[in-house]
Amino acid sequence: MSAPDFHQLSILQPATCDGCGLCCEGIGSPVALYAARSGWNGPHPFRPPDLPDELVREIDDHFGGLNRGQEPQERCLWFDAASRRCRHYEWRPQVCRDYELAGDACLARRREYREAEPER
Ligand code: SF4
Ligand code: SF4
Repeated sequence: MSAPDFHQLSILQPATCDGCGLCCEGIGSPVALYAARSGWNGPHPFRPPDLPDELVREIDDHFGGLNRGQEPQERCLWFDAASRRCRHYEWRPQVCRDYELAGDACLARRREYREAEPER
């Protein structure tokens, strides 16, 4: 797995998510919100109605029947560790859209990583 590359980026003034991806690790899989759960009737409350079938199948294979937070926490199912990018960025959940580049949570995550990996 590749590590974040901050050599070309200002740690606390990121202009892009390229080479980072830290907020997609250690938080489980927000896409678990899209998983099927027993006992629900009618339209899924979180899953986009036009989410492609192959993505629905992948999510249900991994998380069907689980509530958000019960999935493995290491990194998101959709995170590609080699490119450090979301594999299906256009379909990311709202919580990912709300995570603001250079916002407080972003900067805290980058600072935390740098402090834990001072040689980087
Ligand atoms: S939002 Fe911040 S922590 Fe997340 S990938 Fe972009 S730069 Fe990294
Ligand atoms: S859905 Fe995409 S943007 Fe959201 S945490 Fe997973 S990999 Fe990151």
